[in-house]
Amino acid sequence: MLAGHATMRAMVLSNPGERLQWAEWAIPKPTLGEVLVKVAACAVCRTDLHVFDGEIPGAKSPLILGHEIVGTVMALGEGVGNAPGGIGVGDRVGIPWLGWACGECRYCRSDRENLCDQARFTGHTIDGGYAEYTVADARFCFRIPDSYGDAEAAPLLCAGLIGHRALIRAGSAHRLGLYGFGAAAHIVAQVARHQGRELYGFTRPGDLKGQEFARSLGAVWAGDSTRLPPESLDAAILFAPIGTLVPQALRAVAKGGTVVCAGIHMSDIPSFPYGILWGERELCSVANLTRRDGRQFLALAPQVPVRTLIETFPLSQANEALERLRVGRLQGVAVLVPDYSDSVQPTPTSGHSRHRLSGGRD
Ligand SMILES: [Zn+2]
Ligand SMILES: [Zn+2]
Repeated sequence: MLAGHATMRAMVLSNPGERLQWAEWAIPKPTLGEVLVKVAACAVCRTDLHVFDGEIPGAKSPLILGHEIVGTVMALGEGVGNAPGGIGVGDRVGIPWLGWACGECRYCRSDRENLCDQARFTGHTIDGGYAEYTVADARFCFRIPDSYGDAEAAPLLCAGLIGHRALIRAGSAHRLGLYGFGAAAHIVAQVARHQGRELYGFTRPGDLKGQEFARSLGAVWAGDSTRLPPESLDAAILFAPIGTLVPQALRAVAKGGTVVCAGIHMSDIPSFPYGILWGERELCSVANLTRRDGRQFLALAPQVPVRTLIETFPLSQANEALERLRVGRLQGVAVLVPDYSDSVQPTPTSGHSRHRLSGGRD
């Protein structure tokens, strides 16, 4: 498939909680409907930490983490069509968390493939992007807007997409609170400001730097998550995976307001008096993404334009990137970048023939 280069380097999770191992693996072969992608950049998401810690059941083992992948299509698997405008060899694509959905269940048939019971997830039940190469179902890959570099685009693929889905769930809320000012919030804040919403940023108590960051992104107020904002909110989105924030956010929203839990995992929510939910306040979660979310957001991002604040790490330093995310010592979103300078450079096998994929547009 790739002349003179059958192996790749990857950071591999053998057991939950154990350091990722720098390993040489066979380059995966694209099977029916798949593309082989040479990874240019892969962002590090909080979900990676939850998978790493064994908090999300069903993970494959051993596993390559990573679901915010930007790379170049190097080869096509069998059975992929030749539809005009499809993805071809040499194209730049993005690979998100949702790697596959059945297309047949009650959720898939009602435009809710994010809830598919059979869904497979990149960097969880499918090997992901902490590697030099990966394979993906062509139908679940996205095109990346040309105005973004590879590393800058990577955080759009989860922090951006999930944030976008959470923002839609917040409805037309004017006064919007964001709890946890990390990767997703820094993107959502830009979109929310672009839409003319009024932004309130909540951080860990005493995190003055985080509060300054929130204000730099246009928040009219920023403070400790234990405090109430000066005005009651129309909606709040919780990106921090901390259950005690749920009653705090319910207290911060006005009657009819919505609290959206955007994380895939959260510590237990303490009991709270019915009075803080009363008044038609709503509490909901956001799960995964649909391809529609992806296409919408990737069309919107360059219009805002969303700028991502990133800190790049060599692929081999994935453990350090995860640890820095865990303790909150990152200047932006961590993005892993493989170094191909000391490896044999493979060449695309069919780059001249422009086979097209029908994928990416379900
Ligand atoms: Zn399904
Ligand atoms: Zn993610």
